[in-house]
Amino acid sequence: MSVYRCPCCGYTYDEAKGAPREGFPAGTPFADIPDYWCCPDCAVLEKVDFEASEESGVNS
Ligand SMILES: [Zn+2]
Repeated sequence: MSVYRCPCCGYTYDEAKGAPREGFPAGTPFADIPDYWCCPDCAVLEKVDFEASEESGVNS
């Protein structure tokens, strides 16, 4: 599971946690998110603009 970060506002999408308020349950791979999905915090950047980040959790 990886974490993806919005370089605009710093919002992070954690694959392990998903984004339930966006309709993506926990465990949803970033690859399964539609390309037209926008950052829910800044609504400026889209999925393609997100950067892979370090894993936040230590659940492995
Ligand atoms: Zn953002």
